[in-house]
Amino acid sequence: MAYDGIKRAGHCTLCGIETHEVLQTWKRPGIEGFPRKIGAPHENARLVAIRLSDGSFIEITICAECLPQLPARMARLRSIVWDSQMFHFDKRNSFGARPLRKEQRDKIRADVAKTARAAFLGIIGVRKPKQDSGVIV
Ligand SMILES: [Zn+2]
Repeated sequence: MAYDGIKRAGHCTLCGIETHEVLQTWKRPGIEGFPRKIGAPHENARLVAIRLSDGSFIEITICAECLPQLPARMARLRSIVWDSQMFHFDKRNSFGARPLRKEQRDKIRADVAKTARAAFLGIIGVRKPKQDSGVIV
C-alpha cells in the first residue's frame, strides 16, 4: 500500500514502513488497519529528536533507511507530522479516546494550529528505542 502521509504507530513517519511489531489493528471504519497495539521495535527503528522554531522539540520514529535523507526532507516531515496530528485528533473518538466538550476541542485545535506554524530546525539527537518499549509515536 502506498503511504498516504498519515503516521501509523510503530511505523516510519517519513516513508510509512513498519518499525515495530504490530500486535493488533483497528477494525473500525475510517481507521481500519491502523495499529491498535504495538510491540518490540525492529532493528531499523530510530527515535529522532527535532528542534522547532518555537523553542520546543518533538521526537519521532523513523526507519534507519530514511535517517540520512532526513535533513533534506524536513518540510515533508513537518507536513506529515501536522496532518497526522489533525487526523488523529479528528478521529479520536474512533481511536477510543474520551469525547471532548466543544470548548476543549476548540482549544486543542487552536494549540495544534499554533504549533503547526513552527519550522522544523534540525536534528538534536538520534537513538534506538529500547527493546521492551511500547512506543506509540
Ligand atoms: Zn522510512
